[in-house]
Amino acid sequence: MADAPVVVDLRSDTFTKPTPEMRAAMAAAEVGDDVYGEDPTVNTLQDEVAARLGHEAGLFTPTGSMANQIGLQLLVPPGEELLADADAHVLIYEMGAAAVYGGISSRTWPAVGGGLDPALVERMIRVPGGYDTNATRAIAVEQTHNRSGGTIIPLDTLRQLRALCDRYGLGLHCDGARLWNAHVATGVPLDVYGRLFDSVSVCLSKGLGAPVGSVLVTNRAAIARARVIRKRLGGGMRQAGIIAAGGLYALRHHIPRLAEDHAHAARLATALAPAGVVDAAAVRTNLVPLDLTKTTFDAAGLAAAARAHGVLISQVSPRAARLVTHLGVDSAGVDHAAQVLHDLLI
Ligand SMILES: *Cc1c(COP(=O)(O)O)cnc(C)c1O
Repeated sequence: MADAPVVVDLRSDTFTKPTPEMRAAMAAAEVGDDVYGEDPTVNTLQDEVAARLGHEAGLFTPTGSMANQIGLQLLVPPGEELLADADAHVLIYEMGAAAVYGGISSRTWPAVGGGLDPALVERMIRVPGGYDTNATRAIAVEQTHNRSGGTIIPLDTLRQLRALCDRYGLGLHCDGARLWNAHVATGVPLDVYGRLFDSVSVCLSKGLGAPVGSVLVTNRAAIARARVIRKRLGGGMRQAGIIAAGGLYALRHHIPRLAEDHAHAARLATALAPAGVVDAAAVRTNLVPLDLTKTTFDAAGLAAAARAHGVLISQVSPRAARLVTHLGVDSAGVDHAAQVLHDLLI
């Protein structure tokens, strides 16, 4: 009988599972009622994340989407406007939440990922005072940028955006689901990134490997309002310390190891670059975007062929696929996936 196929799951860094040490920390967590603010583990997690990002306070949320949407509602009143990338997670992967729950109107700049030009954003800003236009109230950026393949917005660009927001009185939110990856890839300290924004959301359940949870950080007064919005959205959890403990473990132990995921992604990109599907030099974090337009495969066909060899990849659009490295993918898995995809594509 043939060996069972090796399964290397490169679909997403959301597929990570808690390690035995993380599970032990979760089992031992002290808990309380977090709606009353009395869960010590949640409070510790919120404080540690806020401190690392250079902010006053944090709020634990069940998902990154909820953290983002609370952040946007803090900055943009109903009927007013948010500017973001056309591929922004906050607009295209959160089920229209900004419009449905926040009454937030949005306009987008063309999808450019990390190659954002502040001058382009400035031209889009609509200042308050007109009788027939709603005012721009905030800008949202994504670091790293998911749909563009984990690209990083340069620090200088972010500083220019901060200056724009200060000049026009706008809020600046960062969807930092993978801000950890940008920090590890560039060496820019987390608080240097964090202080540029009015609010930042970070995910604990992607590359960091916690099973559940995100944290929104901002100032203390805004966090008090954020607690109300979270409860309104149904995100007030009780003994949430059980899951927060997984996030706390991840925060304390799993950030430096993201460098390994980046090295794995670079190896995959280098192996597949000769097929003309990826620019290996552009892969700096844990996402490897594959452009299949010059191959005989569409994304569904490549995913099915790879699956037959025990390699799982995700389909991004009909002719684009994506590989994601994470805690659950080891070096042998990367070699296997590189070989399988190389043989299919070349
Ligand atoms: C995963 C992700 C989020 C949060 O997603 P949830 O599934 O709601 O936790 C937010 N932004 C980006 C860019 C992401 O990749």
